[in-house]
Amino acid sequence: MKGEGMTPHFLPTLVNRPFGDPGLYLDFLFARRAIIFDLGDLAPLAARKLLRISEICISHTHIDHFIGFDALLRVMLGRDKRVGLYGPPGVLAQVEHRLASYSWNLIGSYPTEFTLTVSELHPDGSGLRAQFCSKRAFARELEQAIELKDGVLLDQENFRIRASFLEHSIPCLAYAFEEKRHVNFMKNRLAELGVPVGPWLTELKAAVLRGDPDDSPVRAFGGRGDGGAIFRLGELKERVLRVVAGEKIVYVTDAAYTPENRSRIVELARGADYLFIEATFLHVDQVRARDRAHLTARQAGELAREAGVARVIPFHFSPRHLRAEPELRRELAEAFAGR
Ligand SMILES: [Zn+2]
Ligand SMILES: [Zn+2]
Repeated sequence: MKGEGMTPHFLPTLVNRPFGDPGLYLDFLFARRAIIFDLGDLAPLAARKLLRISEICISHTHIDHFIGFDALLRVMLGRDKRVGLYGPPGVLAQVEHRLASYSWNLIGSYPTEFTLTVSELHPDGSGLRAQFCSKRAFARELEQAIELKDGVLLDQENFRIRASFLEHSIPCLAYAFEEKRHVNFMKNRLAELGVPVGPWLTELKAAVLRGDPDDSPVRAFGGRGDGGAIFRLGELKERVLRVVAGEKIVYVTDAAYTPENRSRIVELARGADYLFIEATFLHVDQVRARDRAHLTARQAGELAREAGVARVIPFHFSPRHLRAEPELRRELAEAFAGR
């Protein structure tokens, strides 16, 4: 099992109960930072949690996925903050119009600066980016074309985010958050080996992730005046290090059950530790699901099974099934188990 026995670095939580608006809050457990997928009803999130958000990933702008934009904006105003927002074709104009619907005559004199950078993604891998800054009354500025490789919209030291386009009567984005492989040290083992903690550990990490040969010499030293001791990389790998496969967290909503969507969802979600996926209707309502370009619980479970995910968490239940939550969950679980 991936990451077994290791402390996770990221905690994904649905913002609302499954009959409420969609949304996933991804908390960084070792940093004051979070990423949010979709901006539905954000009432359950305290201001301090909203303020941690550094990136917003929007699937599409049906109102249940975007109504929370104003709540977030309200909390961020008057703070020195930069936030990135990613979304499907049209999102740049939609954000611009949302911002333009308020009067900003006073905000230019605030001592603080809130900047929203919006990246609009297109199915051909191209995109458009512009920023909106409180200092200049949120006028659209610095517009530029962008190019995405393999759907990667954000690539940072310890994670990347990929997006895939799905058909939902309009283009809709599914997202995969992938923590990168990383190296952990067992501090007690370092002490046992009699080697100090120091900057050499950073170089050791890099050497392991680069895949340097096991017989490469590594000098372990603490600081000035310490000549250090030489070890074989392979020995250190065995005795003090642990290479951890990063976690993968995937967010899929809203999508029609078409062959194209199925293969895109399975490809994006393959081997995920968590798959959050809409399961809007019971399978008896599959015609309705098809007409509204949504998945049934059984379809969601089958996709999770095919993608080989570790856990599948359904959401975006239709209010039509308000009294059938156990049935929705059972249907998904049975399909996931292959029954
Ligand atoms: Zn929708
Ligand atoms: Zn929806």
